[in-house]
Amino acid sequence: MSNEISSRQLTDLAEKIYSHLSRDVISQGLDYNKNNRVNQIEFKDSIIYSVVNGANLYSIKINLNDFAQSTCTCQEKTYCKHIAATFFCIYARHYSPESNARAKQPPPKKIAGSHKKIDSIAQPGPEGLVEVWFSIFEREYGQAYRFVKQYFKPFVDHEYYNHFYKVYDEFKKKVNVYCNNWPLEFQNLYQTYANLYILTHLEDASQKYDKIRWEYYIIEGYEKDLIGNLPTALNFDHLDKFMPLLQNAMDIIRKRLFQKNSPLFNWLLIYRCMYSILGHDPQWVHNETTFLEEIMREADKNHRHFYNATIALAHYRFQSGLTNEALIILQQLNNPRLVDLHYYLDFFYTSEQWNTLYQWLNWLIMRMENNQDSLGEIFDYCVAAMEKSHDAEKFVQILKSGLPQSLEHYATILLHARRHQEWAELRACYWSASDEEVIEKEADLVKSREPIALIPIYHQWVLRLIEERNRRSYQNAVKILKKLRSIYKEQKMIHSWNVYISQLAARYTRMRAFQEELQKGGLIHHDHKTH
Ligand SMILES: [Zn+2]
Repeated sequence: MSNEISSRQLTDLAEKIYSHLSRDVISQGLDYNKNNRVNQIEFKDSIIYSVVNGANLYSIKINLNDFAQSTCTCQEKTYCKHIAATFFCIYARHYSPESNARAKQPPPKKIAGSHKKIDSIAQPGPEGLVEVWFSIFEREYGQAYRFVKQYFKPFVDHEYYNHFYKVYDEFKKKVNVYCNNWPLEFQNLYQTYANLYILTHLEDASQKYDKIRWEYYIIEGYEKDLIGNLPTALNFDHLDKFMPLLQNAMDIIRKRLFQKNSPLFNWLLIYRCMYSILGHDPQWVHNETTFLEEIMREADKNHRHFYNATIALAHYRFQSGLTNEALIILQQLNNPRLVDLHYYLDFFYTSEQWNTLYQWLNWLIMRMENNQDSLGEIFDYCVAAMEKSHDAEKFVQILKSGLPQSLEHYATILLHARRHQEWAELRACYWSASDEEVIEKEADLVKSREPIALIPIYHQWVLRLIEERNRRSYQNAVKILKKLRSIYKEQKMIHSWNVYISQLAARYTRMRAFQEELQKGGLIHHDHKTH
């Protein structure tokens, strides 16, 4: 008879605990264990004996063959927090490298039989460990699914996705309980697997029932959750210790990235994030690179797999510092998505690599001809770069070549650079009535800095308004004329003003309504009036 609980027994016990004890009791038990209230654990003939230090000292017997026969000397008599605490204590010891219990015992003998024993979590092999983890996930997922289904009827149609959100929350809450006392790197690995498990299940469900409609921010939240749990704090000098576990996780991710069905999650992002861990192993990088190159050779250039392999490979090059090579690889793409490239553009911007940023933006702008949103984002980068870098002219050139789509961005940077004349020429050249409100605001700014630059654009503006030939447009023309007059005055060019306004009045003598507005505005006197 073994005097140590097997993984299988522990997994079974976990299931009993979670199905018979309420969530409150479980969480109290967890606290009890955290506060080291459990002592004297013994295991004999499928019975666990323990003493828990609660309000009093209580003796606990957990019957592994018949959980219902488990007892405690507290008021509850059974299914109590003391039983839960005992379970967590055993669980933590079983999966802890500093296992006291284990140290006292002789090295475990291989038991012939169907249930493989896990030697120690300090030297994980993917076989045993991942198996146990997955058996936990499977059970918790099933329970979460049934729980939600039972309490949130009907589990159908338009509210379907809603229930999956609950399944996700419920699942995560339950599986995380197990790893609370583990070393951080194993917590991360375990949680990575848990996230992979639930994401693949949600994706499968989503592909199966096309009625599920996901909110994209929830999807993003799940992805962030997974990425946040990646074991990035591993000791990379001893990566080989974790390699089987990491490789196994990577296999799941890769399979999803290159799956046949259209994916629910951004596996490309997740796949790339794994590089920050596995990229420390040159052999791994070599193998994965070969794999990606093969996909690029074999897939159709317009296929999702070609796209994903290209982005992934470029990412590897970029991460090894080969930025130019990364760009050369990316240039094979017909329709790059900006969302997959933000990472690099942001990096060049933050590290002030202006030449590289310029190169990449210049490439992108040629591929984004029809995509106004993406163009807008590229122009945003230009404006930001132009405001920060000393070598701004090349970003100005991108905006110039992007006209007319880049009009607003171009105007913004010309103003920023106090290039008021160019701004005025630009606005005059690409004038549109719908922009007048914006132009008016910009003009107010220019008026405070270099009013004389406004004269040509105000001249044009007035003519446009007069040509609209209605009372309202004449009134607006007079408003502009008043602004113009104040500029002439300030510039001590009152003579030029007089010449201008009398010529203007003379030019439109037949427009009586306009003449009236000029007089009302005090811009001309009666002697200008023609008969
Ligand atoms: Zn009790």
